Amino acid sequence: MKEKIFSRRIALVALILFALLRPALPQGNPARTTHASSPASAGRDARLWREALRIHRSAIVIDGHNDITTPMTNDNYDLGGDPPAPYRTSLARLKKGGMTGEFFSLYVRPWYVEHGGAARRTLDMIDSVYRAIERHPNDLLFATSAADIRRAKQQGKVAALMGIEGGQAIENSLATLREFYRLGVRYMTLTWNNTNDWADAARGEHIHHGLTDFGKEVVREMNRLGMLVDVAHVSDETMRDALDTSKVPIIASHSSARALNDHPRNIPDDLLRRIARNGGIVMVNFYQVFIDPNAAQPNRERSAQLKAQEDEIEARLKNDPERIAEEEDRLEAQHPLPPTPISVLIDHIDHIVKVAGIDHVGLGADFDGAVDMPEGARDVSDLPNITYELLKRGYSERDVRKILGENFLRVFGEVEAYARRNGGRVSGQGSLRRIPPPMVNR
Ligand SMILES: [Zn+2]
Repeated sequence: MKEKIFSRRIALVALILFALLRPALPQGNPARTTHASSPASAGRDARLWREALRIHRSAIVIDGHNDITTPMTNDNYDLGGDPPAPYRTSLARLKKGGMTGEFFSLYVRPWYVEHGGAARRTLDMIDSVYRAIERHPNDLLFATSAADIRRAKQQGKVAALMGIEGGQAIENSLATLREFYRLGVRYMTLTWNNTNDWADAARGEHIHHGLTDFGKEVVREMNRLGMLVDVAHVSDETMRDALDTSKVPIIASHSSARALNDHPRNIPDDLLRRIARNGGIVMVNFYQVFIDPNAAQPNRERSAQLKAQEDEIEARLKNDPERIAEEEDRLEAQHPLPPTPISVLIDHIDHIVKVAGIDHVGLGADFDGAVDMPEGARDVSDLPNITYELLKRGYSERDVRKILGENFLRVFGEVEAYARRNGGRVSGQGSLRRIPPPMVNR
């Protein structure tokens, strides 16, 4: 009894002391503060930061891959508002990040191959991008060319571009590929993590050992149309075949360097050199698990820890792959990986510059596709930090501009020029070839 009264008195004194000292303490939850604002701002050189902002604001800034399109499609998320957790892209943040051109990803889950509807899913996602542009005509510009991106910059708007993620979207038909081009799609990632009927994926079964004959025809038709060939997600063999087949520079819309982290989604040095010889560009992915070797073990532990909960989600929502993904993203966001410093991300840019050259690197963050992002590069609004870090490492203004967007514009321009030289018509001499649609298990 006595002890209780005593401890209560101590508690009261502590409370009064805390109340008195409180104004001296930093406001808000310190853990959240580190998360929300960039840790890069701590100890930042003020002069260099001003220089970074000047360059960044005047530069063309292009991001190769953003998956906010998924909640835009599933939840009618309006970019003008706050994104539903755990997603982070909004118009306000795109502007804060100085974004000139954003590729809205049309990501088609393998579920749509197994159950049918891959092309319809792609159309639904395209519709969500059109709706966003129509809702926000003063902020977004519908963009299908390098010239459109430069026009968006002049008008102070964000160029909204579209890229298909997963060749299964065309349901094995070159005519469907052309329809997507007509609707404004300007790149296609040949695979996602699943191997499709004509291309092996890095993380899928290696059954074709690269591209099949039809896969090579897909690449040639993309060249003819002026659609960028994207080798993110594909196997090394598929990447080699795409490089052998493509008549124009290719892109890796969201991939990093394997020499720094041995992950199949990253690109090995010999292929970085081949992409350089091809004139293409590797747009660096920010995802912690891809860039940071120290993230692998915590990621495995987290998967084991969350397995039972994820199994429950998958059992409960088994016919709704979109909800499963959203709930799992939310769950993972509640169990973040230990932080990765932004320097680890810059190391990947540095490495690709050293191996492939300054003309062959860009940014493809993978925001809202991957949940775990490095400190100071957590969402689109953080992009000026990249410019600051590059300047800190001694990159010139010219080189920084290349990385931020000029390299991509060069590649896009070359791809457009090839298509123009070849008649510049969508139908043109296009192949009518199609192979049977994917087998559907119903
Ligand atoms: Zn991806």
